[in-house]
Amino acid sequence: MTDTTDTNETFDAADSTDAFDATVYYDEDADSDYIEDKTVAVLGYGSQGHAHAQNLADSGVDVVVGLRENSSSRDAVREDGLRVATPVEAAGQADVVSVLVPDTVQPAVYGDIEDELDAGDTLQFAHGFNVHYGQIEPPEDVDVTMIAPKSPGHLVRRNYEHDEGTPGLLAVYQDATGEAKQEALAYAQAIGCTRAGVVETTFREETETDLFGEQAVLCGGITELIEAGYETLVDAGYSPEMAYFECLNEMKLIVDLMYEGGLGEMWDSVSDTAEYGGLTRGEAVVDDSVRENMQDVLEEVQNGEFAREWITENQAGRPAYRQRRLAEQNHEIETVGEHLRDLFAWADDGEDDQTAESTDEQPSESEKAPADD
Ligand code: NAD
Ligand code: MG
Repeated sequence: MTDTTDTNETFDAADSTDAFDATVYYDEDADSDYIEDKTVAVLGYGSQGHAHAQNLADSGVDVVVGLRENSSSRDAVREDGLRVATPVEAAGQADVVSVLVPDTVQPAVYGDIEDELDAGDTLQFAHGFNVHYGQIEPPEDVDVTMIAPKSPGHLVRRNYEHDEGTPGLLAVYQDATGEAKQEALAYAQAIGCTRAGVVETTFREETETDLFGEQAVLCGGITELIEAGYETLVDAGYSPEMAYFECLNEMKLIVDLMYEGGLGEMWDSVSDTAEYGGLTRGEAVVDDSVRENMQDVLEEVQNGEFAREWITENQAGRPAYRQRRLAEQNHEIETVGEHLRDLFAWADDGEDDQTAESTDEQPSESEKAPADD
């Protein structure tokens, strides 16, 4: 019953077309009957919570938002025309409990609401960390599902309001009722995800690929690549300003092209000199030793070592996290960048609001301490 579809195959380039066998669900695959007459408790009213709650309500689903008595978000819920209760009261009224508080506080909140889960209810998540690593162990008679929009909450809400969709992931960890998947699909439809497409995955795959991606490539990998390039130029006597432009500022132009049209559009858009240099020198920088390091990072995700470390770090009040964050803030590239961005502030006028908002999003998501609300 528990993530039986998981296998531990290693990637074989010769079989890479297998990567295309993912199942994708759309509006016509979802049946709103599975959610229509149910009450959904949305726990948390942050990035995902406010979007799921309002989209569900606008789709005709009965929604109650669960927040602590002293939560500063309570007024916002009422202003948005939704009911608010404590997490325990909300879970008590609900058939589906959507757990959208920060991942680090979910085990504590779950401990409070656990007794409110009746047989046949659903625990619904937007990320698999706590279930996959055993920090939340749901009773056997409830469904455990995931609908994870691949986007920050404000876009989930905005897309819905504009009759557009947000792609998402669907996973069923535990199917006690035999209807877990249909209900999850109906939930995905109600928040607008099936308009764009919902890719079927497992809690394990979602959690492990998410952690690996943010550690090795997106957050950890890219910052270290930028800093290493910057340091190499500055150590060789080039000006910090030039190093900043070449290694950090231009990153956005390159990533935008890859986002629009894949690596090919990027290669097509840069000069032949950049293309030849990149094609011949890139592999020398990201060589087999980097791939071995990535393998190590992936192993620590797979064997739970990273999860244990992060859980212990939180229990200890985040000492290493604070220290690392401070060191990163003090890197010379940050001071140089602040100065240069001030000089070029005019360039931001008329910048598309998506970029502006997603930059705003970062602190609220990443600086949220366990006790925050
Ligand atoms: P968030 O930090 O934006 O919001 C969490 C909200 O939870 C807060 O605003 C507050 O209202 C509430 N809260 C905090 N502590 C609480 C407590 N002790 N009791 C009750 N309520 C409390 O969180 P988020 O980014 O929306 O993340 C929610 C879930 O969605 C996580 O599992 C996350 O991994 C997942 N997710 C987030 C994104 C994203 O882009 N932000 C994308 C996909 C999935
Ligand atoms: Mg992530």
